[in-house]
Amino acid sequence: MNSLPDFQLLRPATAQDAVRLRAGHPTSRFVAGGTDLLPNLRRGLVQAKVLIDLGGVADFTDIELRSDGLHIGAGATLAKIAAHPAVRLQFAALAQAAQAVAGPTHRVAATLGGNLCLDTRCVYYNQSEPWRQGNNYCMKLLGEGCRVAKKSKRCYAAFSGDVAPALIVLNAQVEILSPNGSRSIPVADLYQDDGMAWLTMADDEMITTIRVPLSDGWSSAYEKVQVRGAIDFPLAGVAVALKRDQGRLAALRIACTGVSSRPLAVQGLEQLTGRLLDADSLQTIVAQTELAAGAMHTTLVDVLYRRAVAPVLARRMVERLWAAPD
Ligand SMILES: Cc1cc2nc3c(=O)[nH]c(=O)nc-3n(C[C@H](O)[C@H](O)[C@H](O)COP(=O)(O)OP(=O)(O)OC[C@H]3O[C@@H](n4cnc5c(N)ncnc54)[C@H](O)[C@@H]3O)c2cc1C
Repeated sequence: MNSLPDFQLLRPATAQDAVRLRAGHPTSRFVAGGTDLLPNLRRGLVQAKVLIDLGGVADFTDIELRSDGLHIGAGATLAKIAAHPAVRLQFAALAQAAQAVAGPTHRVAATLGGNLCLDTRCVYYNQSEPWRQGNNYCMKLLGEGCRVAKKSKRCYAAFSGDVAPALIVLNAQVEILSPNGSRSIPVADLYQDDGMAWLTMADDEMITTIRVPLSDGWSSAYEKVQVRGAIDFPLAGVAVALKRDQGRLAALRIACTGVSSRPLAVQGLEQLTGRLLDADSLQTIVAQTELAAGAMHTTLVDVLYRRAVAPVLARRMVERLWAAPD
């Protein structure tokens, strides 16, 4: 990896100043923990003449349980979220997903906002400059065409953040600030299915807060498969949230990461509402998750394994949550 290129560092004290600075410097980037951005700058995957450090923004790291739910500042670190007693108790999928990211030294710096906005990944993209040059680059940066799907007009780089699927099944919203004001959208709407333009936010927008509604009666979990047992992105990650009512499924949500260019909710699970968790229901869960988990060859690991493992994870997690005492 190369050393960091020269850049100017700006340190705004408020979120309003941060988005104003971002709008005023078109070649700038926000930096929070820097654990995704800085390696990408060093590899030449990202260019930025100005970095806007969000580390000095006021009230950006708070985690508060209020009457309407959990409010998390986008600058809260993943270590703080994973260790927070209320998060662990009431929003287990979120605590488990935060704990699953990288390793301990990353998590003390890495923030929730950075995790939601991290770059998409592909075996043809996350490489050194000489490797990429030797392979004639790819459409995500400097090249033409997608190496993963040669006739494709789009890029298939995969979104591989661990926390987004947990927030999706917990029905969380993100608050986004721009120089023109703020807006709030569901976490799922932050993304679109394009490896080059996976975020729906404009360049001068930043995430300020994540709001998770109270989860009374819900149980939830997050799991991923990875090549190494630690410090590794998910080959496939699955979050599940379910609610029981007198031995029947009252509600079920499943979301996946690592298997497409955006984290996404599994569709068609409403048909299970009111049903027993029997073999037919489990088969529906597997079939619907298979439809969502259309991994492409973006890692060195066999793509058929990645497509098959997400539905298996989903079925096992639903069975485990179902069997757990309330
Ligand atoms: C060895 C290694 C292993 C890793 N393993 C994993 C893993 O297993 N799972 C995983 O999910 N990630 C992994 N990561 C990636 C990274 O560590 C995490 O995703 C981390 O949460 C990123 O957060 P950050 O604060 O460091 O983001 P930064 O690097 O500071 O920023 C990432 C991106 O988000 C933007 N950004 C940051 N904050 C905001 C905001 N509030 N609003 C708008 N945009 C913002 C930045 O401009 C940048 O584009 C790994 C990284 C490394 C180096």
